[in-house]
Amino acid sequence: MTKDGQILKRNENKKKHRLFKPKKKKSAEEDAAIQYLKAQYDKIVPDEIKTFKDFPLSQKTLKGLKENNYIVPTDIQKQAIGYALQGKDILGAAKTGSGKTLAFLIPILEILFCKKWTRLDGVGALVISPTRELAYQIYETLRKVGHLHDFSAGLIIGGQNLKFERKRMDQINILISTPGRLLQHMDENPLFDCSQLQILILDEADRCLDLGFETTMNAIIENLPPNRQTLLFSATQTKSVRDLARLSLSFPTYVAPHEQAATVTPEALQQSYIVSDIEDKLGTLWSFIRNHLKQKVLVFMATCKQVKYMYELFCKLRPGVSLLALYGTLHQEKRERIYQEFCRKSNVILFATDLASRGLDFPKVNWVIQYDCPENVDTYIHRAGRTARGVLGKGEGLLILLPQEESFIEDLKNNKIPINKISVDPSKIMSPQRKIESLLSDNSDLKQSAQRAFVSYVKSVSLMKNKQIFNIQLLDTDAYARSLGLIVPPRIKFMFKKMNLKNNTEKVTTENVIQKLKSNDAEHEESESCESESGIAPVIQQMKKIKEKQKIPKFDFHNVNGDSDEEEDGFIKVKKKNVEVDMTALEEENTRTKKNAKPLTKAAVAKKILKKKIKVNTTVKFTEDGEAIEDDKKDVKSELAKQFVTENVGGIDIEKAKEVLREEDKFDKIRFREKVKAKHKEQKRKLKNKKKDEEGEKDDFGSQSESDSVDLSWLPDPDKIYGKKSVSDPKEPASDSDNNQANSGSDDSEIDEKYHRPTKRKLLESKVIPQESVTPRKVKKIEDVSASLSVQEAEALAMQLLKSKRK
Ligand code: ADP
Ligand code: MG
Repeated sequence: MTKDGQILKRNENKKKHRLFKPKKKKSAEEDAAIQYLKAQYDKIVPDEIKTFKDFPLSQKTLKGLKENNYIVPTDIQKQAIGYALQGKDILGAAKTGSGKTLAFLIPILEILFCKKWTRLDGVGALVISPTRELAYQIYETLRKVGHLHDFSAGLIIGGQNLKFERKRMDQINILISTPGRLLQHMDENPLFDCSQLQILILDEADRCLDLGFETTMNAIIENLPPNRQTLLFSATQTKSVRDLARLSLSFPTYVAPHEQAATVTPEALQQSYIVSDIEDKLGTLWSFIRNHLKQKVLVFMATCKQVKYMYELFCKLRPGVSLLALYGTLHQEKRERIYQEFCRKSNVILFATDLASRGLDFPKVNWVIQYDCPENVDTYIHRAGRTARGVLGKGEGLLILLPQEESFIEDLKNNKIPINKISVDPSKIMSPQRKIESLLSDNSDLKQSAQRAFVSYVKSVSLMKNKQIFNIQLLDTDAYARSLGLIVPPRIKFMFKKMNLKNNTEKVTTENVIQKLKSNDAEHEESESCESESGIAPVIQQMKKIKEKQKIPKFDFHNVNGDSDEEEDGFIKVKKKNVEVDMTALEEENTRTKKNAKPLTKAAVAKKILKKKIKVNTTVKFTEDGEAIEDDKKDVKSELAKQFVTENVGGIDIEKAKEVLREEDKFDKIRFREKVKAKHKEQKRKLKNKKKDEEGEKDDFGSQSESDSVDLSWLPDPDKIYGKKSVSDPKEPASDSDNNQANSGSDDSEIDEKYHRPTKRKLLESKVIPQESVTPRKVKKIEDVSASLSVQEAEALAMQLLKSKRK
């Protein structure tokens, strides 16, 4: 078996003349062996098989098996391999960890061997897996067992170099792939050709065929030749006629060696459950981990965000054991590294979503903890099945249930799953609650992570189909938030649409949302029960299905994340056909989360400010040079203000502040008046000097008596430009009522007016007046004179004035 589509030519170093003859001989031997093997296929009796040698298998396969210590076939291998070699379609169902992988890999090798498949023949076998990690695991097993064969094998999964894969596609004989990536090659890669496909395998078939992969799988199946052999394997096999019809399987052979077994889970798996209030769950997990530091533990949670938060939090709490987290939104390289690390280590805790629940064969896992109640019995079986694997494997499973979820145990027992209740001594639970709260108060990232975990969990509960177990009405969200270290439960906005909040008019609070969700759930249940009782129930069901069909293709959850083939987040993927979800709400949520647009609330801004330790309601005053004036009292003049500054510790008494401002205003005005007078005086002085200079006809290098001060004499006099208040229309309302009021009845009005922007009218008036050559007094005079003149006289006067200006 060769890697990534590359054929390794063995015997390359041998001399040419020796190569030809033995090859011919070898070829004849091989033909004879193939004929013999084929003739034995019909004589296979599963019950008589004791070792792999009892199967009519090629020497290459037998040797590969032996090298890896596979001597005695497992039940599913004994029963399935024979039928597969005979060319039958198979529906294989066997417990988790019972060796289903070899049950389909051995027939692949043998079928292609007997057909004398070569590199030039293209893809002869196709294995589809729902997750990248599982595809990788199958690929590795194939390489180990089939390395003596000359076929090339290729692993085609998302997150890898597409170009690299593309070039090698035409050289692959056995292709192991995830659905999304496979379809991508089918659609885009001209080198991909599977027209010669002999055998198709769906591992974890029920998962591959469920709603999450429906459109992708339908498209893939359409591209495959119909006259192929098809094998489906899973611990929870689909028997749906619809699924089988989709694969054109009319009469598959059903192989289920454990169908009559007393339990559907491995015998060596010890299963127990505890019931815990939501606020104690985290403490229970923490205590468990602290008590199992020398064990390999896999902890399943409902959503990616929970896994992320718990991992980050527990890392900070330092339990004294290695921690890992595996979930779909991680980068592919990280996913690979974490997967490998968990396989390799023996004392380690892995937090994971249901991404890790299917098929993965982590060696020697001691415990599987189901921290959140699984979606259904099948998910429970797959999660629990990550331990007690293989022939000698042992392991324990612990399910943590909320009191309202305890009825799930009935479902488990009805499905032949033996599980015992264990009670935990509450005094033995070490809750790191205080530490978590202090960690969160110090670390805003961690706090945000906790908030996301909270929302995602509540969301997952609300989306679950089984409302009797996942009852949002009984979910104490405040207690849950507290258990995560959140003193204030985050706002739940994701169901805005679903819960029909009257958009802006209704306040979105946690309570409000929960209340709405609760009422929606109640309605949902009611309508369901009504339908089942009425005579039109089947019609309604049918209509629902049609509606579903119309809805689903519009929104492919897998494509939204850009990674079309894999299970990303337990709840966000619709895995079962009968799950009802508000697609628009989810679609919005998905695009929103993708953009990572977090709305900025006033509370959030305030919190940010507090975190930056900026003192609010304080005034920092600066000097003209930009230096902060530290002593506030220096700048205040009135007794009242001084008193106010000393007293004012936090918050503002508006009334008192107003009074102080009024008091201070008096001083400000005096200061302002003084400044303006001084400036005015200075300007007049400069103007006088300028005139003197002009009169004395000084040369350009005339003495600069005011060399140190800046010469602003070239600036026009504001009085001349804007005129004085007396010039303006007395009816013109003042632009600033406060100033008007303050200045009324005093000569302040004159001073202020100069520094106010003129109204339009004033500007128009000022345009008529020749600016630089007249003093304010003259303006008044001219205005008065012009009023008594005729139009011609006024024009003549204006011309005269202009001429004098030009001079
Ligand atoms: P399943 O797909 O049924 O969950 P796997 O194929 O992953 O199970 O196999 C579970 C474990 O059993 C693997 O570690 C595998 O190496 C081991 N195994 C499979 N077949 C045999 C066998 N015939 N003898 C010994 N070990 C086996
Ligand atoms: Mg498997």
